[in-house]
Amino acid sequence: MKTIPLLILFLFAFLSCGQDSNNAIQDSEGGKKKPLAAPKDTEISNMVQEISVDSIRAYIGTMVDFGTRHSLSDTVSDTRGIGAARRWVKSKFEEFGKASSGRLKAILDPYVVQKSGRIPHDVLMKNAMATLKGTDPDDDRVLIVSGHLDSRVSDVMDAERDAPGANDDASGVAVVMELCRVMSKREFPLTIIFVAVQGEEQGLFGATHLARKCRQDSINVIAMFNNDIVGNTISSNTNIKDSTRVRVFSETIPAFETDNMRRLRRRTGAENDSKSRQLARYIKELGESYVENFEVVLNYRTDRFLRGGDHTPFSRNGFTAIRMCEINENFVHQHQDIRVEDGIQYGDLPEFVDYNYTAKVARVNLAAMANLAYAPYEPQNVGLKFNLNNNTTLVWDKPKGKEPAGYNILLRETYQSNWEQKIYVTDTTATIPYSKDNYFFAVQSVDADGHSSLPVFPRPVR
Ligand SMILES: [Zn+2]
Repeated sequence: MKTIPLLILFLFAFLSCGQDSNNAIQDSEGGKKKPLAAPKDTEISNMVQEISVDSIRAYIGTMVDFGTRHSLSDTVSDTRGIGAARRWVKSKFEEFGKASSGRLKAILDPYVVQKSGRIPHDVLMKNAMATLKGTDPDDDRVLIVSGHLDSRVSDVMDAERDAPGANDDASGVAVVMELCRVMSKREFPLTIIFVAVQGEEQGLFGATHLARKCRQDSINVIAMFNNDIVGNTISSNTNIKDSTRVRVFSETIPAFETDNMRRLRRRTGAENDSKSRQLARYIKELGESYVENFEVVLNYRTDRFLRGGDHTPFSRNGFTAIRMCEINENFVHQHQDIRVEDGIQYGDLPEFVDYNYTAKVARVNLAAMANLAYAPYEPQNVGLKFNLNNNTTLVWDKPKGKEPAGYNILLRETYQSNWEQKIYVTDTTATIPYSKDNYFFAVQSVDADGHSSLPVFPRPVR
């Protein structure tokens, strides 16, 4: 890529596009490639600025004050246990909803979890959920952002002992709440669901309930953002201090895959192009465009080694879902009884949360979610023509809904992690001088202000 002569680029831009090609690759010095940057939107910048460190600190403080939020803990008390905690989250959603002109509806969404492994008897659980209705009645798209409200100590069955869960996962719920506060004042064509699930530590029950419901009701969830453990910046054991990076976990091989999908993946070499991976790259581009000095690191796996989270049931049900998580965890402050041993303080206490860091993670979520929420639907039937020709022809159909101003063709060399170049076109077909044998491509819809849909990886067509 470094050696593509500028002449070809100019010729190409002139002949095939006739559009300003928003491409961020070659710097003419032949130096290091700059990452792609999204066009900035003033309203998104304003929202990003409105994310408040103090609000996040206050939410986490209140959640910790419920003593324990274990899924089997007290549901009657107004001051202690999961019942009080979920009612409080709902009441905060209702408070934020006052700025939404009646578009935000908060509920406690109930479900019964039957006796099984970490559930000693049938339990009625409830997710605290707020739905910000889209302003376009014809827009059926939904974004979901979640964190888990329940907490635990060393013994996952211990529902009595104090389990502050300040980082795991009051930090994630605080992100969800702050996004709700800032976003519910605005209007988006599509619908956004803000949810604090429970039952995560006992077996991802709240997220499983919601994912199944979305599938059964054929809800068009275009992206699900799980925020779990997003507040610690010092790693245990290795003592690395890093407040400048966050991980986005996305599945490589989709959990939901038919035989045909698997065959196609193998034939087209699409192992690094699952829908979740596209979302992860999108979050990286948008997050790094709007949040200064902060890096979004793609982690090429569904979750951490042998561990899981609330995005997993969404992936299993065929939805595009990722997990945001701090760059290095601290196991002295995770799933631990509060105690001092050999002078070391154990427990998931609020003094170990870096609120500035959590706010940055919230801003990354916001930049990606808001951009998606303003964007047109993604292009349909995106295809890559199979022929023995070193030019590559892509074809697609206009999306439903608002007509895009144009489309970005994204491309990268096969060994690259992130998209390297954007080529803007206004037609629904394009032939570009990059070999399909050496590059991967995707197409996204773009509106006049530059809001882009998720990229769609093409299927082969004749
Ligand atoms: Zn967690």
